[in-house]
Amino acid sequence: MNINNFYEILKSEPSYRLKQAQQLLFGDLISDWSQASNLPLALREKLNQECPLAIKSKVLTARDKKSFKALITLEDGAKIETVLMRHKEGRDTICLSSQVGCPLGCTFCATGASGFEKSLNKNEILEQAIFWARYLKTNFKAKITNVVFMGMGEPFLNYDQVMSAIRTLNDVDGLHIGARHISISTSGLVDGIKRLAKEKLQINLAISLHSANDKIRTDLMPVNKKNPLVQLLRAVDYYIEKTNRQVMFEYMLMKGINDSNEAAERLAVIMDKPLYVVNLMNYNETSVFKPVNEKIFKNFEKILQKRKIKVTSRYRFGSDIEAACGQLAARSK
Ligand code: SAH
Ligand code: SF4
Repeated sequence: MNINNFYEILKSEPSYRLKQAQQLLFGDLISDWSQASNLPLALREKLNQECPLAIKSKVLTARDKKSFKALITLEDGAKIETVLMRHKEGRDTICLSSQVGCPLGCTFCATGASGFEKSLNKNEILEQAIFWARYLKTNFKAKITNVVFMGMGEPFLNYDQVMSAIRTLNDVDGLHIGARHISISTSGLVDGIKRLAKEKLQINLAISLHSANDKIRTDLMPVNKKNPLVQLLRAVDYYIEKTNRQVMFEYMLMKGINDSNEAAERLAVIMDKPLYVVNLMNYNETSVFKPVNEKIFKNFEKILQKRKIKVTSRYRFGSDIEAACGQLAARSK
């Protein structure tokens, strides 16, 4: 698929054609312009030539049949991974990549270990969503309800393209997904958080925290050196002041690294603010670290609850196909 010339081609057509073509692409989810019987033949042919819609992909299904991972090969040959999670309550969440690989090199992350290839453009980000929209329609007569930027890459290192993709995801003439159902996860880039605070968009922000201790966090996430906790939390508070929206702090438990009572107490201290929520999860084994057992998980959670911190804990999805967050590495390249 390559829709980079989509708007350019339609600019030279009568103006109502753009709406028609958008409806075909994002609404009807056609995969070939020859299906566009309401467009003139010459335009269909031109679009098929210059704006092909076929997506090169391979899908893996998890044992539980509820999560799916797609490996998509882009026009330029780059490979990216994206995930669909089908939840009980009728939610269908897709997890999008913003880059091929990631330059930030967090030590626990498979994407980080795979190195960095490039940032995706708006259309390459949208291609993943269009892929799942078609997949859900064909196989389940369902629609995407939620979008999270938790696939490969750091969204704030690709700010403009990510925001521009979000605008089309949200647009009535695009995929029409509610802004409140779209989330960005960041490793904690202060500039990106401050910038997002000024957007007039009601999307959700998640911060990958994983430690409340600067030394440990820097060891896990080198990005913490230039974006230490005090500055990170100051940026989050600024975001909350501007948007009055809740912020989710992702905390992934790794055995012997960030799972002690002391770590929990320290986390409780910095998380004790009205619109802060902690999302506790277990580590999906992708590197030298190990997940914690249920007892340690529950104990950690209980300490936070005792301190009246809002905590949610995340069910583990699709780890047998390595579709869980942070396990995306497009290994088959
Ligand atoms: N770069 C962004 C978004 C992509 S990572 C970020 O770091 O937030 C999405 C989430 O998966 C992050 O919270 C990340 O910390 C987490 N993650 C990375 N590796 C993981 C692993 N092996 N198990 C569980 N979560 C992981
Ligand atoms: Fe990049 Fe996020 Fe992985 Fe860190 S956790 S290496 S920021 S994708």
